Amino acid sequence: MNHPPDDLNGRMFDVAIIGGGILGAGIARDAALRGLSVALVEQNDFASGTSSASTKLIHGGLRYLEQFAFLLVAESCRERRILLDMAPHLVRPLPLIMPAYRGDPHSLFQLRLGTTIYDWMTLSRHPRMPRHTTLTAAQAVEREPALPLHNEHGDPLQGAVLVYDCQMDDARLCLETILDAARHGAVCRNYCRAEAFQFQEDRLAGVTVRDRFTGDESELRARVFINATGPWAESVSAMNGRSPGIRLSPTKGVHLVLPQIVQQHGIYFQSRGDGRMIFLLPWDDASLLGTTDTDFRKDPSLARAEPEDVAYLIEQLNAIMPEVSVEQRDIITAFAGVRALVRSDSRRPSSRSREEKIIPQGTSLLHVAGGKYTTFRAVAEKVLKQVGRMLQRRLPPCRTDRTPLPDSRPTASGRRLSSAPPVFESDIRFACRQEQARTLTDVMRRRTRLALSAAGGADTAGHVADIMAEELHWTDDQRQKQMDDYLRQRSG
Ligand SMILES: Cc1cc2nc3c(=O)[nH]c(=O)nc-3n(C[C@H](O)[C@H](O)[C@H](O)COP(=O)(O)OP(=O)(O)OC[C@H]3O[C@@H](n4cnc5c(N)ncnc54)[C@H](O)[C@@H]3O)c2cc1C
Repeated sequence: MNHPPDDLNGRMFDVAIIGGGILGAGIARDAALRGLSVALVEQNDFASGTSSASTKLIHGGLRYLEQFAFLLVAESCRERRILLDMAPHLVRPLPLIMPAYRGDPHSLFQLRLGTTIYDWMTLSRHPRMPRHTTLTAAQAVEREPALPLHNEHGDPLQGAVLVYDCQMDDARLCLETILDAARHGAVCRNYCRAEAFQFQEDRLAGVTVRDRFTGDESELRARVFINATGPWAESVSAMNGRSPGIRLSPTKGVHLVLPQIVQQHGIYFQSRGDGRMIFLLPWDDASLLGTTDTDFRKDPSLARAEPEDVAYLIEQLNAIMPEVSVEQRDIITAFAGVRALVRSDSRRPSSRSREEKIIPQGTSLLHVAGGKYTTFRAVAEKVLKQVGRMLQRRLPPCRTDRTPLPDSRPTASGRRLSSAPPVFESDIRFACRQEQARTLTDVMRRRTRLALSAAGGADTAGHVADIMAEELHWTDDQRQKQMDDYLRQRSG
């Protein structure tokens, strides 16, 4: 899917999407499957924003039941089912253990009640998703031996609930959605930044786009423009020079990648002090711990795992699993993402609504933000309904709920670079030739999951950089710069 540099110029698209995260990707695929002409531009790499920094769960959102967000939970459960069928190579069921110690903010009884309602909300159950069950303390520890029988205060484990959600590869799901949109005719370009809006009379008629590698400028023209820039949505909407079309209350979430602690199950535990829910999940040869939820008003590109975020997560884990005793030096890597929550009055970040907002501005511009990764397909369908009104056209029906997303990776061949996650030389060459990979970080972090595994250190990165240097004709200096950039990002 490599395109000539001027393929955006001189065409009138039905829909032009700014932002190559999962929302932009989902909208592009839905629109392309309905036969519309589509362009998508992304300022960095596809999925380089929030869509590669999530907890990587396709979930109904058990904790949203506490906020009485029943519609969001029901919609998420339905989407979980659709995504399991649509992309079984990227979305798989994950058993989660929710332990209850004496004195926890939520008792075992409350956890059982919550998961019973959660099961009811899943109106039509997927055959691969069993109902929740209750475990005794001994059964819970037998399943995940890292779970202690007593917490740090000596309070006993009273039992646990075993509930099922799904785990996914967020960056890859976003990328493959874009690849499939391109297969259906969409022109999708990474490293192309929307820089200015062009108006004709009062109507948004074009967007100036700059290729960040060549510096070339294009004029992107379309009948409808969609601002799907996640946490950047407010600043992009301000390009219209008038009042911003959308207002956000963003929050930052940090995850740590740690050596393997859990084997088969995720653990969903109640944090000490603030009562937030924290996930410890199996992730290739490692474990993923997250997340924090704190107000973040800066440029989303500046979001980092700060020392206080890391300290909070380590403290929480060590409180629940004192014998694991994780220290700062055990961290393999860390990453941070920004939630594009639509502005609300709620002062507590974790109680702000996760529902999306679709806001038309004028006759040719739509802003869309909020929502969860889980609901991207449904949100895209709602956006397309609005696009149809703006185009004053009856669009063909949505097909994304029954069109499988093909596994676009090549069959494994050549040298094996890593076993967990499994990565072969052919994956790297394919990423450069067919998946618009331009930097070492693109391949380590988003074409493969190497960056989030113990295998993603300097040795493997060096092998990947050698292959990419051949494919993309890097000089020695360019190769070295790519290595420096990648290793700097990995160390936070
Ligand atoms: C810590 C954390 C954990 C989460 N965990 C989960 C989870 O487990 N499950 C779940 O369902 N949801 C989860 N979410 C929510 C989910 O990740 C987001 O809802 C989703 O990724 C948002 O996608 P998006 O496309 O709106 O934004 P993004 O992925 O941020 O995409 C927006 C894109 O727009 C691009 N852009 C910005 N400005 C421009 C411009 N001028 N020109 C061109 N491109 C531009 C950016 O570079 C970016 O790539 C989590 C979120 C966070 C922060």
